[in-house]
Amino acid sequence: MPTYSHSKISSFDQCPLKYKYRYIDGIKPEIGESVEIFMGNRVHEVLEKLYSDLKLQKKNSLEDLLAYYKKNWDEKWSDEVEIKRDGFTEKNYFDTGKKCIENYYKRHQPFSEITVGIEERIKIKLDPQDQYLLEGRIDRLVQAGPGEYEIHDYKTSTTLPSQEDIDRNRQLALYQIGVHQMWSDAEKVCLIWHYLNFDKDMKTCWKPEALERLKKEILEAIKKIEATQEFKAKKSALCDWCEFRDRCPQWKHVYKIQDLSKKQYQDEPGFRLVNLYAKLKAKKQDFIRKIDEELEQLEEAIFNFSEKEKVDIIRGKDHKLRIRVRQVIKFPTKADKTRKELDEIVKQSGKWIEVSDLSTTKLARAVKEEKWSLELLEKIKQFQTLEKTKSIFLSKFKEKE
Ligand code: SF4
Repeated sequence: MPTYSHSKISSFDQCPLKYKYRYIDGIKPEIGESVEIFMGNRVHEVLEKLYSDLKLQKKNSLEDLLAYYKKNWDEKWSDEVEIKRDGFTEKNYFDTGKKCIENYYKRHQPFSEITVGIEERIKIKLDPQDQYLLEGRIDRLVQAGPGEYEIHDYKTSTTLPSQEDIDRNRQLALYQIGVHQMWSDAEKVCLIWHYLNFDKDMKTCWKPEALERLKKEILEAIKKIEATQEFKAKKSALCDWCEFRDRCPQWKHVYKIQDLSKKQYQDEPGFRLVNLYAKLKAKKQDFIRKIDEELEQLEEAIFNFSEKEKVDIIRGKDHKLRIRVRQVIKFPTKADKTRKELDEIVKQSGKWIEVSDLSTTKLARAVKEEKWSLELLEKIKQFQTLEKTKSIFLSKFKEKE
């Protein structure tokens, strides 16, 4: 039975290539853990200790927990931990984690809730045939009353989501399905996020119909992953936190250059090719601009000559010029505000089909994005051919990259 997790599915959504590196090729990243993940892990360890010890009637003071936090931080910190944000240090992150623990402790003591699971492994059956299984881990599971459970999740992020984001969050909703499946007395399950850095708790609760829809959605996502043949790189702002940048085709060369000395990178073949390409492109643009200017002036002179001499044909040595002056009908372009109105008039007149044409570019996009029903896509695909095209896009390299 293939087993998935929410992070596995999200990883595919974020970038299919990242998914392939991590889950299919099983590559162990060479780039170190980000400081954000490091700090989050240290805070989670502290809260795990707090509740594990409470199970055996031991209540740690805030000072005890902060000492535990510092000990773990110092023991586990290494030069491999990556700080991406300019101007921030290890201390900034250590202090942020400390503040998260203090906020939580002060807000939630004396910790009288009934904790039934800490770092609880959860299994979610997605289909009646038990073909697909999803696994997850709940930070803390609480029995809030008879038949009532709460799933608690700790966040150390520096951004606070909106309530709408919380209501749409799929991860804990999937765990909610798991709790209903694993504890037969679970009638009501609520989801609680502790945004520790903001000292704020956010809560939501999914209805059974919404959970059913979510299960279908996740099954579809899994089937899409399983049908994927080509795992393409999807560059985004999240690449900054991707542990595979050193092997990803989108970043690999940038990394290579970064690690070379000035002398070495100036001789590096790729570096030289880009410089030469940029130089020739600039030269070409300059040349074209000059020729365009000359042609424009020349055309102006030709029209003037034709008008003055009242001739439509002008003879040269081996060539002749034919001058045509005519009035053409023009309509507003797509960018024009009045274009919509014009489209509407033609559509309502029933003449749209006579003057419109299929956009094969838009059609290719719709097929690529699989926007339509499978049945329709199959019919259309009979007409498609696959052609390999190669393009080069030149842009300025930003040091931030
Ligand atoms: S660096 Fe970006 S594009 Fe490359 S694998 Fe990672 S997420 Fe994908």
